[in-house]
Amino acid sequence: MTDCLFCRMVAGEIPADVVHETDRVLAFRDINPQAPTHVLVIPKEHHRNVGALAAADPGLLGEVVSGAHAVAVGEGLVAGDGNEPGYRVVTNTGPQAGQSVDHLHLHVLGGRDLGWPPG
Ligand code: 5GP
Repeated sequence: MTDCLFCRMVAGEIPADVVHETDRVLAFRDINPQAPTHVLVIPKEHHRNVGALAAADPGLLGEVVSGAHAVAVGEGLVAGDGNEPGYRVVTNTGPQAGQSVDHLHLHVLGGRDLGWPPG
């Protein structure tokens, strides 16, 4: 059994509030939301961060990014072909950026005004 939290969610061993899924991508609500919409989008296959996935399978990275946009559309954060009201995609890499789960995940945030720069 893996000790990776998100691999265990993919395997169904830990419950996830899934909002979008393809054969290679899973999106589920963050357990500690930082905005009215806060969804995590992951590759089902384990890759530790964005650089690792870009090196191993850039096509899959594109699928994860497409999944993030599909979530934003599904959550009403953006029209399918427009920018309003908008959303943010963030991925933390490494301890100084605050990465706490070593399985690549894109945070999709929206539903409120988002400050810039982030903390
Ligand atoms: P990071 O800090 O690595 O950028 O983001 C990890 C995210 O995973 C955090 O926003 C945290 O709230 C979320 N998270 C941690 N444990 C769980 C969990 O068991 N279920 C869900 N849905 N999210 C989790």
